[in-house]
Amino acid sequence: MSLKTFRGGVHIRDGKKLSSHAAIQIYRPKGELVYLMNQHIGAPAVPCVRAGERVLIGQKLADPGGFVSAGVYASISGTVKAVTGRECMNGDTATAVIVENDGIYETVPDYGAERDWQSMTADEIKAAIKDAGIVGMGGAGFPTHVKLSVRDGLHIDHVICNGAECEPYITCDHRLMLERPEAAVLGMRILTSLFPESVGVIGIEGNKPDGIEAVAAACEGYDNISVLPLKKKYPQGGERMIIEAVTKRRINSKMLPADAGCIVVNFSTVIAVADAVAYGKPLTHRVVTVTGDAVKEPSNFLVPIGTKAEELIEAAGGFTAEPEKVIFGGPMMGFAVYNLELPVNKTTSCILAYKRDRVYNPSECIRCGKCLTVCPEHLMPIKLKNTADERDFAEFERLHGLECIGCGSCTYICPAKRRLSQSIVAAKQFVLLEKKKAAAAAKEANNGTKG
Ligand code: SF4
Ligand code: SF4
Repeated sequence: MSLKTFRGGVHIRDGKKLSSHAAIQIYRPKGELVYLMNQHIGAPAVPCVRAGERVLIGQKLADPGGFVSAGVYASISGTVKAVTGRECMNGDTATAVIVENDGIYETVPDYGAERDWQSMTADEIKAAIKDAGIVGMGGAGFPTHVKLSVRDGLHIDHVICNGAECEPYITCDHRLMLERPEAAVLGMRILTSLFPESVGVIGIEGNKPDGIEAVAAACEGYDNISVLPLKKKYPQGGERMIIEAVTKRRINSKMLPADAGCIVVNFSTVIAVADAVAYGKPLTHRVVTVTGDAVKEPSNFLVPIGTKAEELIEAAGGFTAEPEKVIFGGPMMGFAVYNLELPVNKTTSCILAYKRDRVYNPSECIRCGKCLTVCPEHLMPIKLKNTADERDFAEFERLHGLECIGCGSCTYICPAKRRLSQSIVAAKQFVLLEKKKAAAAAKEANNGTKG
């Protein structure tokens, strides 16, 4: 039987063997922890603690800054050292709460206490997810309670757990499939209970047969939840791609998954939902893969959020050689970083270190058409790059450049090593920023007229 998938995409050597065998180890951080306020999409969180205050595991450090936002919680017990600016992955500075670890690991009362979630209403479950500060842990960081707040009139018939983990090297979700499959199924039972006519589908790429087996066994007895093996292909884990693979429906940038009857939640996030709703645990920890050819002992760690990357690298045996490149996330969509004091966030699935940074010298396009065949959004990457380079943004939009999901498949496949996705993503960001500025100016002008 052929495995479900989407049209387009690339087959990448995945490098997962380096760490897929490594069982999850609990990591206890040493020094201070750094909790950034912008770990999610939307308004930054607002600190609610002050320097000098003692905090416990599970205690709120920051309130959500709006509806599309998420609270931040302490992952260790200790003393707040400062509320100050700290560098984040993209080089910007964001507000952060810094906590000195006291090594006691004291929790707030009821942290981890079992709850009768089946007697909770849908609104109470959504409130529990919101109160736990849960956001998409696959990298996007979109607040989960917002995803679950579906517009009136929309009918959800699929809750999809995204267990594709298609980015090379990353194995945190794979290890969770093997080590906590029941928690994932519990999370899916909770999520499908919010949409009574829905089925739960856990999509897992076929390169994790043991993961498929473990999660399928945990699904036994729950008729509305099943595992769907997916073809191993990048970017199978893209939200639009997994919806296409599971339901044959397609969405675009103007639609939400709910418009196609779907809710899509990442595998780690589904487990965070189970921990929050059934055990009263806010999102304080996550599993992080530390890997790459520059890492001595590629590993998977259960990490208190806020732990510095340098500590995890040391816990993985340190570097075999000075790495030329370190990435937060996977090689296709992650962020290259130079500062190893950066903390693990809710979205940090992987810290990847390469001995060598590959330098590509782009040459002229040879018109092979490969970039067109792999684009999962069915765009024309070479034409989009040309319009982006010429700053012809009207043409860029006409060619549907805003539909680019930044997957990097076009750059990966290009034999001329042209930096296609980099130019297209930069142009898309520019166009979206200009639109935002124009909308703000129009609103202000409108307010002025009314005044
Ligand atoms: S144009 Fe965008 S969506 Fe298409 S392959 Fe390139 S990066 Fe991916
Ligand atoms: S893959 Fe590269 S060489 Fe081939 S058509 Fe696209 S840009 Fe040109």
